Amino acid sequence: MKNTPAHLDILDSHSLATASLENLYRIFTVPEAPNSTLGAIDKEISDNLMGFLTDRIVARERSLKAIEADFSGSQIPEVPQFVSDYTDFVLEKLVAQSVHTAAPGFIGHMATPLPYFMLPLSRIMVALNQNLVKIETSKAFTPLERQVLGMLHGMVYEQSDEFYAENLHNSERALGSFCSGGTTANITALWVARNRMFRPTEGFQGLAKEGIAAAMAHANYDRLAIVVSERGHYSLSKAADVLGIGRNNVISVPTDASSKISLDALRATCAELTANGTGIVSIVGIAGATETGQVDPLTEMAAVAQEFGTHFHVDAAWGGPTLLSNTYKHILKGIELADSVTIDAHKQLYVPMGAGMVVFKNPSALGAVEHHAEYILRAGSKDLGQYSIEGSRPGMAMLVHAAFHIIGRKGYEIIIDQNVQKAKTFARMIAAHPDFELITDPELNILNYRYVPAAVQAKLAAVDTEAQKVINDVLDRANRRMQKQQRAAGKTFVSRTRFSQHRYGGQPVSVFRVVMANPMTTLETLQIILDEQVELAGREGTKAILAEIPLES
Ligand SMILES: *Cc1c(COP(=O)(O)O)cnc(C)c1O
Repeated sequence: MKNTPAHLDILDSHSLATASLENLYRIFTVPEAPNSTLGAIDKEISDNLMGFLTDRIVARERSLKAIEADFSGSQIPEVPQFVSDYTDFVLEKLVAQSVHTAAPGFIGHMATPLPYFMLPLSRIMVALNQNLVKIETSKAFTPLERQVLGMLHGMVYEQSDEFYAENLHNSERALGSFCSGGTTANITALWVARNRMFRPTEGFQGLAKEGIAAAMAHANYDRLAIVVSERGHYSLSKAADVLGIGRNNVISVPTDASSKISLDALRATCAELTANGTGIVSIVGIAGATETGQVDPLTEMAAVAQEFGTHFHVDAAWGGPTLLSNTYKHILKGIELADSVTIDAHKQLYVPMGAGMVVFKNPSALGAVEHHAEYILRAGSKDLGQYSIEGSRPGMAMLVHAAFHIIGRKGYEIIIDQNVQKAKTFARMIAAHPDFELITDPELNILNYRYVPAAVQAKLAAVDTEAQKVINDVLDRANRRMQKQQRAAGKTFVSRTRFSQHRYGGQPVSVFRVVMANPMTTLETLQIILDEQVELAGREGTKAILAEIPLES
């Protein structure tokens, strides 16, 4: 039995179905009976989603190696399996071993819990299986997607009613592109920026047709660059790679003490690049840095972009929905000056994974990447597939549309205000605790901190940078160990990152990262997380590491 594929092992106790046309007709037509395994699960999820997730996901950590053993067969099963048997496998081997991202104590990543209505609505979306590449396969879904992009455009740019009346459903225009996520949205924005920089002119058919080598020769550039702060998301390097700009040419500008891009350094970087024959494809501002949540000074960055005649993109994948809060939208001031803005719906709009968007101030900008194909995308049509990297695309816009209507701006405002206020409260709890060091005071709803015993904090404050480095290296090991143990225990979760700290002369240190986005997270949850960390710090292994720091001098 040694070489039996794993999928056959779990079938040992079950009978196999038979492959026949009749049985195939069944799986395409007959719904599962309510008392079947799948039917029962369906009901369980409908009745109590949180209960389903809490009960069915096992918190205990199993090694990835052990889990891999459940997925080791490399052959497509020859013989079909009954749906109920397969469902048993899913529950036992997949659901149980997944991550409870919606748990109130899971505040380490950008995965947000889903409002319940998303589940039945996604079913309708899946049932209809529309393809948004074109109207022929999506009909009302295309105007719906255009409307969603228009609403997002309105949220960012606040243009007049006439502007939207003229552009929303105009076949010559597109207010944005609906993508699978923030990465594709960023790539799309920079793709447009690049192609507009090398648009067709007399004797040059444009980069889109002639390619990057011809474009650079035509414009007399030695190199192209994307300029962003050192906190830029890694998707920008992917974009630079895919677009032929090169990862080394994502130029990192240092941040100031508040983790925002240094404007002097930005100006100096742009001046130097320009003087060296480098074409700046785009300056990118961050509105909610993935690691720290900080927002760059967007108004000033827009002025720099204008000064250097370059595209200004704002990566608001995380922070964009803050614009729905009248309390906090001022933090993103200047975003309306951007040529393009990325916003992820699957983050703070609480839509299931697979929904990112990029909107363009100029409704003709996307024309720079327009693509036609005779059989499918005819010029002059309203098909949104003309402007997307992806071909076939699902009707995810429906779920954004649903959330906009069912939650409403006022509903989002409540959620967002709560998130920011909770982050600020947590920051105060951390700062007030003698054994924690608050690293990033939250501007939005992300913050960073680490465990540093009070005596070590006093010592750090008293020694020079060199001695600080020695201590910080020890603290890094202790904090990393604590974070891993907390994750393994499975009760709560904060993530971990590492970035340079002004207060320690630019040394990078490892810190905990908290993303406050779950409306079900309470102050009590936050206290439990801190208490657990204190308990972890007191365990033998971590205590031994911390003891390496000499406190008597
Ligand atoms: C999450 C994020 C991205 C990438 O988005 P995906 O949806 O994960 O592709 C890009 N930029 C920022 C600032 C982000 O927070």
